[in-house]
Amino acid sequence: MLRKKILVTGGAGFVGSHLIDRLLQNGHEVICVDNYFTGQKQNIIHLMENPYFEYIRHDITMPFFIEVDEIYNLACPASPIHYQYNPIKTVKTSVMGAINMLGLAKRINAKILQASTSEVYGDPQVHPQTEDYWGHVNPIGKRSCYDEGKRVAETLFFNYYWQNAVQIKVIRIFNTYGPRMHPNDGRVVSNFIVQALNGEDITIYGDGTQTRSFQYIDDLVEGMIQAMNSRDDFTGPVNIGNPNEFTIKELAEKVIELTATSSKIVYKELPSDDPLQRQPDISLAKKELDWEPKIQLHDGLVKTIEYFKSL
Ligand code: NAD
Ligand code: UDP
Repeated sequence: MLRKKILVTGGAGFVGSHLIDRLLQNGHEVICVDNYFTGQKQNIIHLMENPYFEYIRHDITMPFFIEVDEIYNLACPASPIHYQYNPIKTVKTSVMGAINMLGLAKRINAKILQASTSEVYGDPQVHPQTEDYWGHVNPIGKRSCYDEGKRVAETLFFNYYWQNAVQIKVIRIFNTYGPRMHPNDGRVVSNFIVQALNGEDITIYGDGTQTRSFQYIDDLVEGMIQAMNSRDDFTGPVNIGNPNEFTIKELAEKVIELTATSSKIVYKELPSDDPLQRQPDISLAKKELDWEPKIQLHDGLVKTIEYFKSL
């Protein structure tokens, strides 16, 4: 088998650390670049003795030079609390980070995958979301630093592809959960599980009728690798998510049932521009990547609850 050298930006984060585990298991050499903004050393500490793994503390808004075969560009805070903490920095990470990584890919002739997001669809008026839908994003809303940053990153990826023939893959990731999410990350699955395990109130924002479609981390990792290895002329964008859609209230009830907690649901104000509904159409991923998610919410939640219990 060909041992590839692979750069993963944001590799100390939730998704990146799982991706690195899989790439190493598949026999590749991995260089992880991360500034530890939302990532944790704990996520990659088990890899530090592995001679095929290397960690470099670096901020991707600054240029970076290395020789690799493939780049997975994941560096970017993903939870609304974290990406809104320093919105200017979030835009810089998406935009300048994409410019730096695409410039690197062009120079060294590497294939590069962008971790884009369902957030490019904003508060969608087309349901479920297909890749040809242009989205409904408030350009000056609280979420825009993330949404618009990711949209510009996609623009940059396609311009480097058209103008410089850089080999690109763009995936749009839908809400993903699993072990190694930061307990204070603020996203709904980790919030509800941590609250339930601590016997605290479960905080539903709004009336809980808004929907999301939750994907387990292992399915995402599989989809990312399939996308990177897809046929040369397939660029995406392609949705990677689990189409099973739940209301936030249903999610809260499932977490309560699985943790057998005495926690009660409380309702808090809905943050501005919070999308009302979200569900991926994954026909393209099925056709082009021969990929579909395998792990359903119940099983994924059981594994994730076990992880948070162990912390
Ligand atoms: P995360 O916050 O756990 O990981 C992001 C990582 O990027 C962290 O380790 C952080 O320290 C690092 N980082 C942030 N800014 C950086 C910078 N300027 N330079 C270097 N490193 C930097 O988030 P995640 O859930 O693992 O998300 C990973 C990627 O997947 C992100 O690009 C995110 O937008 C995308 N994504 C995730 C989801 C999801 O549900 N988890 C959904 C859609 C898209
Ligand atoms: N949410 C909630 N309680 C929480 C955290 C989030 O009700 O403690 C809601 C949030 O308002 C949104 C949904 O859950 O409607 C998903 O939020 P998350 O931040 O996980 O992801 P995103 O909004 O980016 O899809």
